[in-house]
Amino acid sequence: MTSIQHNLQQVRERISAAAARCGRDPAEITLLAVSKTKPAGAVAEAAAAGQRCFGENYVQEGVDKIQALGNSALEWHFIGPLQSNKSRLVAGNFSWCHTVDRLKIAARLNEQRPAALPPLNVLIQVNISDETSKSGIMLEELNELAKEIVLLPRLTLRGLMSIPAPEADYARQLAVCQRLAAAFDALKTDYPTVDTLSLGMSDDMEAAIAAGSTLVRIGTAIFGARDYGAAHNNN
Ligand SMILES: *Cc1c(COP(=O)(O)O)cnc(C)c1O
Repeated sequence: MTSIQHNLQQVRERISAAAARCGRDPAEITLLAVSKTKPAGAVAEAAAAGQRCFGENYVQEGVDKIQALGNSALEWHFIGPLQSNKSRLVAGNFSWCHTVDRLKIAARLNEQRPAALPPLNVLIQVNISDETSKSGIMLEELNELAKEIVLLPRLTLRGLMSIPAPEADYARQLAVCQRLAAAFDALKTDYPTVDTLSLGMSDDMEAAIAAGSTLVRIGTAIFGARDYGAAHNNN
């Protein structure tokens, strides 16, 4: 067994155990393998081990891997900060974008989504830890932005995404995750297409699952530590 295969199995076991502890069905929780900075070969290895959904943070790096793998069975999620001048590549190559945080970028994605593809699945990124440096909207701005996004025919609003500030303490991780989950539940009652709460990374996935996450984004625990030696600032 390769280490990626082994790690994937362990992550799936962590998801199942966390779901069992709170009485949830692990099948409700999608595992997104975050392959940023990792070569296409690592993605191929994970795919061979049954992994289907992959997350990328850097537009061009993601597009290169999507093209290198040429495997239509894989589902690609864009999860990095999105600049306007890169929106066309996201609209044309990915199935999901997790980081919509303003109407302007949503409108561009809507306009640029190719007619031959199904609508782009989008999540609104929320800044749940109130850090001024992090991207995402404040919770108070959510209703306003959601109302505009659902009017865009080439996008489907699927839910919310957040990257909480790192927190070592489980109880504190849980409290933050529950704040986002409450907003997600409210959004779900307003919009029938909303079904996805993208929350939880390698270090906080248990708390995220306990709070109600339906999609965990896991990089390090699958692919190992990232190598930022190469230039990845070309978003
Ligand atoms: C890198 C990244 C992840 C994965 O983080 P790990 O701690 O390596 O699991 C998840 N979500 C986003 C948005 C990321 O940028």
